[in-house]
Amino acid sequence: MRAYLDYNATTPVDPAVLEAMLAFLTDNFGNASSIHSAGQRARAAVDRARDSVAALLGAKPSEIVFTSGGTESDNLAILGLISAFAPKAAGGRKHIITSAIEHHAVLNSCQALEQQGIEVTYIPVGSAGVVDPDEIRRALRAETVLISVMHANNELGTIQPIGEIGCIAAEADVYFHRDAVQSAGKLPLDVNQLGVDLLSISAHKIYGPKGVGALYVRSGTPVSPQFHGGHHERDRRPGTENVPGIVGFGRAAELARANLAAEPQRIVALRDRLERAILDSISSVRVNGDVTRRVANTTNLSFAAAGGEAMLIALDLVGVACSTGAACSSGAVEPSHVLLAIGLSPDEARSSLRFSLGRQTTSEEVDFAIAAIPEVVERLRALSPRSATMVAVR
Ligand code: PLP
Repeated sequence: MRAYLDYNATTPVDPAVLEAMLAFLTDNFGNASSIHSAGQRARAAVDRARDSVAALLGAKPSEIVFTSGGTESDNLAILGLISAFAPKAAGGRKHIITSAIEHHAVLNSCQALEQQGIEVTYIPVGSAGVVDPDEIRRALRAETVLISVMHANNELGTIQPIGEIGCIAAEADVYFHRDAVQSAGKLPLDVNQLGVDLLSISAHKIYGPKGVGALYVRSGTPVSPQFHGGHHERDRRPGTENVPGIVGFGRAAELARANLAAEPQRIVALRDRLERAILDSISSVRVNGDVTRRVANTTNLSFAAAGGEAMLIALDLVGVACSTGAACSSGAVEPSHVLLAIGLSPDEARSSLRFSLGRQTTSEEVDFAIAAIPEVVERLRALSPRSATMVAVR
C-alpha cells in the first residue's frame, strides 16, 4: 500500500478531466486560431473552458488569460502590471508590497524588479503565518502601485486575510494581486469578494493537467505581455493555445466548483485524524502556523531531532509520500523561507514535514500513514546526535 500525501505539490488528473482532454489530443487536434472547422472546434472548446474557469472565480470570461501555470500567472501579473503601468507613471509610482511567505514565483518576480529600480517591501509575519493587514497599511506609500499577497500559503495552508487587504488596496487606489494557486478548489473564490484586480491559479493543483494555468485580469487593469508573438489571449499572452490542457483545466474548474461544498469537509476530518494521531503518538512534535485559519487539507509539523529530508526519504521507502518545504540548491538543503519567516530556527525548519491530502485520499491511506510515521521518526531520532539533548516542544 502507498499513501500519497503531497497534494499541495500536485494532484492526480481526475478521470473526468482526462476523458474531456482525450478528444483534443487525438481527433480534435486543430489550432484554435485556424479558420477551418477543425480550428473552430478547438476555438469553441477553449471558449467553453474559459467560461468554466471564469465561473469558478466569479469573473467574466474576457477577464481570463490562459498561461502555462501558476508561475507564469504570477510573473505576468507582477511584471506585466509594472511594465504596463510604470512608463505611464513617468518615474512616479515604483513601489510594491508583498509578504515574506509568498511562493518563489512572486518573490523572485519582485526581486527581478528590484534589479530594475522598483522598490519592494516584504511584510514579515508572526508565528501564525498570517499577514497582518495593518502592516500592509503602514507600508503604503504614495509611490505604491501593487500589493501582492497570496490567499492560502502552500507550506502551512494558512489563509491570509480576505476582504481587508482588498479594501486597503481600493482605498489607496493600488492594484491588488492574489496568488490563489493553493486556495482554488479548497476555498470559495470570488474575485469581487476578494477585491482583487489580478489572481493566479494553476490547473495541476485542482486535478487538471500540468503546464496550464490562468491569470484573472479585472477589466481595465493594464497588463503587458511578457513575451512577444501573435495576438492570442487579447494581446496579453501570445502563443498557440494549449487546447487539450485548457479543456482539461475547464473540466477541472467545473469539478472544483461542484465539489467545493462537500470535499473540504471530508478532507478536514482525515487531516485532523492524521494530525491528532501523530501528536498523540510521537513526542516533541508541533504544528506550524495558525491551526484555526488554514485550508482543510494541509498540516505542517516540526519533529524535534529528526531531519526532514531523512524522514521524507525513509517515509517514501515505506510508502508514504509527503514534502519538506526545503529547497535543495547546490547540494545544500536550504531551510524553507516560510518556516524561517514564522520564526523557526534553521534546524527546526529542516526537521519539518508537510502532509497535504486530497480528493483521492482514503481513510485506509491515513491509517497506513498513522502506522508508518511514528516508527520512522523514532528510528531516525535514535540515530540523531540531537536526540540526546532533545527538549520538549509545544
Ligand atoms: N504559487 C503557489 C502558492 C504555489 O503553491 C505554486 C506551486 O506550488 C505556484 C505558485 C506555481 O504554480 P505552477 O506549479 O503551476 O507553476
